[in-house]
Amino acid sequence: MEEIPRDHPRYASLITRQKIVEGFHSGLVVPQGLLAHGRGEAIDYILGEETHPPAAQATRAAAALLLLSKNPVISVNGNTAALVPDEIVGLSRLLNARIEVNLFHRSEERVRRIKEYLLSRGAGVVLGDEDLVEIPGLSSQRRFVSKVGIYGADTVLVPLEDGDRAEKLVALGKKIIAVDLNPLSRTSRAATITIVDNVVRAMPNLCRNVEELRCSAPEELEKIFLSHNNQENLKRMIELILRRLSRLTGLEELE
Ligand code: ATP
Ligand code: MG
Repeated sequence: MEEIPRDHPRYASLITRQKIVEGFHSGLVVPQGLLAHGRGEAIDYILGEETHPPAAQATRAAAALLLLSKNPVISVNGNTAALVPDEIVGLSRLLNARIEVNLFHRSEERVRRIKEYLLSRGAGVVLGDEDLVEIPGLSSQRRFVSKVGIYGADTVLVPLEDGDRAEKLVALGKKIIAVDLNPLSRTSRAATITIVDNVVRAMPNLCRNVEELRCSAPEELEKIFLSHNNQENLKRMIELILRRLSRLTGLEELE
């Protein structure tokens, strides 16, 4: 892999891109995942590649919801496994949450590779290749879910979800936490809580928030969760993007 100079102004973004490319070469990521990442990069560029206050607030609400949940599950695809494997494993330990591989472009081989990769990074159990049932009314390969994992979960954390499944999971009565840089996507609108941030920043922030809140009383957690309004939060992120764009078109320096 070529070396990226540490003093490059967009070092973090280039390192992230490199991780996705490495994930592609090792069979975790499909070509479509590279394109999806590129679309995310474009929005992150406008955001200045940093976490903004609405995203930080959504992350805190997500941590509270996860701590209130009886049976939370972390749904993993190729891109998230390539970008944040240690945070996935760390969060599952903090919450005692199950990890499940769930893919839009599913093949047994890729499920196995992602599972093995997460096990090699310290995961205890990784679901997604046995005891599968189908989510009713969903035609994509995402419909295959584990009976003891996503199917039985009360809350599903889906960093990088696709809109179709998010809608179906909500229809099944589950609470969905999505991480999606696009505040306009169906995923973002359908989810209970959407964190509009790059998954490489959102996952460590989520782990930190869970650590901070894990000893809080349930009433306190409920207050944090209930005071969060997803549609309102998305509106704040869209307004923020518009403000940044209008400043950019004036060719002014971003603060
Ligand atoms: P939907 O299915 O929800 O309507 P979509 O079809 O437009 O959305 P997909 O192709 O399903 O989008 O997924 C790509 C999206 O994933 C991008 O638009 C981007 O917002 C998001 N994304 C990609 N990489 C990242 C990342 N590293 N962090 C956060 N979000 C990301
Ligand atoms: Mg989609």
